[in-house]
Amino acid sequence: MARLIYPNKSWNGRLVALDDGHGMETPGKRTPFIPEINRSIKENEFNRKVVGYLTEILLAHGFRVLQVAPTDEDTPLPVRTDEANRNNADIYVAVHYNAYDGTFSQTPNGIEIYVYPGNLNQESGRLASLVGNYLRKGTQQNWRGIKEANFHVLRETNMPAILTENGFMDNKREALLMIDDDFQREVAAEHAQGICEFFGITFKGTREAFDPETLKLGDLGVQVRALQENLLKLGYTMDGYGADGSFGPATEEAVRRFQRDNGLKVDGIYGPATRKAMEAALKKLEEGEEELEKLAIVVNSYADFPAVEALAIRKSAMIALRKIAEQRVVAEQIIVAGGGTQGLKGSNFIDLSGSNRLETAQNISDYLKS
Ligand SMILES: [Zn+2]
Repeated sequence: MARLIYPNKSWNGRLVALDDGHGMETPGKRTPFIPEINRSIKENEFNRKVVGYLTEILLAHGFRVLQVAPTDEDTPLPVRTDEANRNNADIYVAVHYNAYDGTFSQTPNGIEIYVYPGNLNQESGRLASLVGNYLRKGTQQNWRGIKEANFHVLRETNMPAILTENGFMDNKREALLMIDDDFQREVAAEHAQGICEFFGITFKGTREAFDPETLKLGDLGVQVRALQENLLKLGYTMDGYGADGSFGPATEEAVRRFQRDNGLKVDGIYGPATRKAMEAALKKLEEGEEELEKLAIVVNSYADFPAVEALAIRKSAMIALRKIAEQRVVAEQIIVAGGGTQGLKGSNFIDLSGSNRLETAQNISDYLKS
């Protein structure tokens, strides 16, 4: 079923129907096998991501968005166009990726946009040329022009409708672009620019959609999903919900708990201060996860290096200075060559320290023989 999405801000009065082309498993709609990534890429992997990003940008500009086929299934074309008509969408935009002969041999490349035959000089044609202008300026691809075709989604829609083909699945370079996140965002942004211009609405960029200042209850999208993934990483669960991209009460409560634990203002809003604290917490977490050395030999100073060199080579251990080993755990197991274990961080020690250098050297030598 179609999904009607409202902007968080006041509505600009326009509804855009977005169509992501096919189902994820629709037969044939995929690239040839690509050895570099050991798989083929499905057309819908690209279409759906672009429709998702385009939705976010349009919402940030006050549009309502109707996703006519938001599921993995291949929604029948009449269902897509009926939903757009029933909801009185102002325009219909279908996002696709082209195919030629299904091999990487001699495939054309580039972008083309389709309108219904006879509509080049109508509103559909105007929309196509505006979107096309931005696609041409942005992506470094061959421009194949605006074409006419008797496609169902162009014929059966009651509103201006375009179908964009953003590259060729069976052109190797363009096939790999399909899963390039920067490319997906760029294609979405260029569609949005054309759509904004079509309605006379000022395009304000993608920052608000892709990198908003704050996230709060009711927000949707990729940024919310990223926040939720980070909350889970840090151990803040959300009533059993996963990262679903929807900022509901459980997400708000998790943000509150994070704020409480970090001495921040507890308001459940993910703003700049909370973002900064979370980035620091994630950094700390990552550093803690860094793999520890298996074995290290702790010495008092560089002067002790020669005494432990043979040991280090034999045991494939790193040599650490006592000053460092007092600040952090330098390895899972630590051989102490002088000075004892007092003050060292760690839990698994082999102490070879003698009462003087000579005794320590003897202990090392015995240890090597053992
Ligand atoms: Zn397609």
